[in-house]
Amino acid sequence: MKTARIAKKPRAARAPGLIDPFEPREIRRLVREFGSPLLIVDCERVRRQYRALQRALPGVDLHYALKPLPHPAVIRTVLEEGGFLDLATTGEVEVVARMGVDPARCIHTHPIKRDADIRDALARGVRVFVADNPDELRKFTPYAADAEVLLRVSFRSPGAVSDLSRKFGCDPEHLLPLARRARDLGVTVRGLSFHVGSQAPDPGKHVEAVEVCGKLLAAARRERLGPCDTLDIGGGFPIDYGTRAPEIGWFCAPIRAALARLPKRVRIIAEPGRYIAGPSAIGVASVMGRARREGRWWYYLDDGLYGSYSGQLFDHARYPLESLRKGGRREPAVLAGPTCDSIDVIAENLSLPLLDEGDLVVGRAMGAYTWASASEFNFFPRATVVSVNLEPGDRGRVMTIDR
Ligand SMILES: *Cc1c(COP(=O)(O)O)cnc(C)c1O
Repeated sequence: MKTARIAKKPRAARAPGLIDPFEPREIRRLVREFGSPLLIVDCERVRRQYRALQRALPGVDLHYALKPLPHPAVIRTVLEEGGFLDLATTGEVEVVARMGVDPARCIHTHPIKRDADIRDALARGVRVFVADNPDELRKFTPYAADAEVLLRVSFRSPGAVSDLSRKFGCDPEHLLPLARRARDLGVTVRGLSFHVGSQAPDPGKHVEAVEVCGKLLAAARRERLGPCDTLDIGGGFPIDYGTRAPEIGWFCAPIRAALARLPKRVRIIAEPGRYIAGPSAIGVASVMGRARREGRWWYYLDDGLYGSYSGQLFDHARYPLESLRKGGRREPAVLAGPTCDSIDVIAENLSLPLLDEGDLVVGRAMGAYTWASASEFNFFPRATVVSVNLEPGDRGRVMTIDR
């Protein structure tokens, strides 16, 4: 990692000292300095996303889930806003340990862990874990004095982009037996958690899950199965891609209402990933070469489906694309990735101005589940991550993470 200063006059629309790194001039400047492909992360947009979600869910502690974009600048920005973190692997635990993050601000939420994963997290001071079945609970018996668990409940959500309740979580009707099992093993049940699935189409599943979990928490407390004073409502908060998502205040209003009906002593936390990271970054790729095939221009970019556009496969996302070259006659065009694999095509049926080698193509809303799942197939390097506006007023200081 290295830092550099970029001299830049502040723009009127932004707070003093901030730049808009998503504007064509700034994009070109960053590519000149750091090369291509880039993933440009705007920490000011991270701040805005964090604040918007906090306004929509007042009183809820927001644990940024590292998984969609585990970049130190995003993590640092969330912490500076007063946020918390959601870790799922030893690798993520190490990222935050290297940054010197207070482990009390972190929870570990992978429902299935190796003993070493639990030990590593505990050694770093993380105490709260997630479990969803009896075998997993048994792993905590040696650490019962130091660790406590949130029991993850599943609420199937076939409408979500990824239905995380298929892979993880126990059925609501099995929750009380599981909590009794924890009590018998001497493992503290701190509360419940759920994740209804990412990019939720509407807040219905969250509301249903909050209501069912409220009843389960009350029942578990009546049976004295643990403190049961925390409810983790997971992630899933949707963002705009090519199609608009519901506005976050509107999306959260019914969730807020359901949370307000819970007893005051229940601490509510959430694990937003996509909502924080997604709109906060753009992908920038350059044309490596072009060819005219069957009446269309094929442009071969230096980033593609094996790189930052991997989210099109794994996350089922379609990123809004644009060429920085404007004007001129538009022609039918295809954007392809750099590898020699035939599936490595980003978008077809486009209409673009004539592009040439070195022209830049920008993908918007590319912060979440993009670079994080990129590979270096065919030895095409992952995009260099450049983060800008690390602190309010720092006049466009840039931090890169080496690819
Ligand atoms: C991936 C994940 C998240 C983040 O979900 P988003 O839909 O991106 O907000 C939160 N919690 C857990 C346990 C996850 O696996």
